Amino acid sequence: QKAEWEKLKEEDTVTADGKHIELAANIGTPKDLDGVHNNGAEAVGLYRTEFLYMDSSDFPTEDDQYTAYKTVLESMGEKPVVVRTMDIGGDKELPYLDLPHEMNPFLGYRAIRISLNESDMFRTQLRALLRASVHGNLRIMFPMIATLGEFREAKAILLEEKENLIKDGVEVSDSIQVGIMIEIPAAAVIADKFAKEVDFFSIGTNDLIQYTMAADRMNERVSYLYQPYNPSILRLIKNVIDSAHKEGKWAGMCGEMAGDQTAVPLLLGLGLDEFSMSASSVLKTRSLMKTLDSTKMAELADRAINECDTAEEVVGLVEEYLK
Ligand code: PEP
Ligand code: MG
Repeated sequence: QKAEWEKLKEEDTVTADGKHIELAANIGTPKDLDGVHNNGAEAVGLYRTEFLYMDSSDFPTEDDQYTAYKTVLESMGEKPVVVRTMDIGGDKELPYLDLPHEMNPFLGYRAIRISLNESDMFRTQLRALLRASVHGNLRIMFPMIATLGEFREAKAILLEEKENLIKDGVEVSDSIQVGIMIEIPAAAVIADKFAKEVDFFSIGTNDLIQYTMAADRMNERVSYLYQPYNPSILRLIKNVIDSAHKEGKWAGMCGEMAGDQTAVPLLLGLGLDEFSMSASSVLKTRSLMKTLDSTKMAELADRAINECDTAEEVVGLVEEYLK
């Protein structure tokens, strides 16, 4: 099977009925690029930049960050690279950013909430990204967005830094897409409103599922509630994808669910445009995608959402379709 997958390395990802899907890989550092290339990913769908901060004993400088971003962009050439601004907090700690202990870290001070408050740190990251933008096909993504106000504020800071750089004579790309992660149910529910203002969505199911089901993704005692195929999750995902498409935007997914072989047929059926996963899952997903008919999967997704009451029923339905 591995040898079969190997043959798909240079190919695009196309369904049985000829629909092209973008298959991307998630990375944490430039060191992960080998995996991206060796598995024939068509893009980097999520670059988790918090590792730059966590692997260092103090805030990484603008130049340190610029070097890392440039390395990734150049290595990918014309292929898109979605860089997520830092997502510290929750389970990810940063010793030199003296964060107080919280009762509910996953519901607390993390990601964009920190960035908007520690604006020097945020501006440094954005300047590094903007400077690197001329070296490839950069897309910038904000994590843990709950409200339109947060997105507008983050985007305004980005545009301010862009103006500042241009004033200083620094070259900045004019075609940087700016999007958000959809990982908080509040944002998923009003995706239609966000879709008017963002360039793209990337659904972060790791967090979206934990927040929707109110079940900590690290707590084994409640892991039975961590249900990617629960109709509630599928409906949220459908709303996000439909909202994006109505405004002519694209919707991707960078949570673990994007590489889950039971979920892929459903997500294809829901119209997901981009699937981003760990590099090691790319080839087997490309292989699966070749066997799936997108019209038939749309029918499957429709039935899963409207006829199934439970996650178990959804799994049963998918198995029936794949037989
Ligand atoms: C997610 O929440 O699905 C996601 C991709 O982000 P992270 O796993 O880094 O929280
Ligand atoms: Mg997340």
